[in-house]
Amino acid sequence: MLGRYVCGAKSVVHDSALLDALTELGEYWLAHQDRVESQTVTCKLEHSGSGPHWAVVLGDGEWGSAVWAVWMGNQEPDSFAELADCPALSDNETPCGLFLLHPGGHTWEVSDPENEMWEAIAPALYYAQFGHYGPFTT
Ligand SMILES: [Zn+2]
Ligand SMILES: [Zn+2]
Repeated sequence: MLGRYVCGAKSVVHDSALLDALTELGEYWLAHQDRVESQTVTCKLEHSGSGPHWAVVLGDGEWGSAVWAVWMGNQEPDSFAELADCPALSDNETPCGLFLLHPGGHTWEVSDPENEMWEAIAPALYYAQFGHYGPFTT
């Protein structure tokens, strides 16, 4: 996987903007308004150029789609869209975390330095919490 990375661009989604978006997207998503919170989002797509960037802001494994924020450059997201999930599965049946017809590689084809950092320190965090390495012992 050397050389293929997610975009990693960050932005901030405010709860008020997301709530407006859910209102426009209709009842199904508005029913999830208790999960709405302001959040920092990261573009997990492999793409070239300055944008647009995409990040999932509200997902639902059951529904087959998720609400995505779209933004350009250093701006805050100014549009939101409900996009169908990418149906691709990796060799070990891990579903792609992106949307249907997304640009770039599927999630398992691109490296995410932020995830790798968390994975690298996960055993230490687990040990600090539980006093043993649990699932991380090999
Ligand atoms: Zn991006
Ligand atoms: Zn995909």
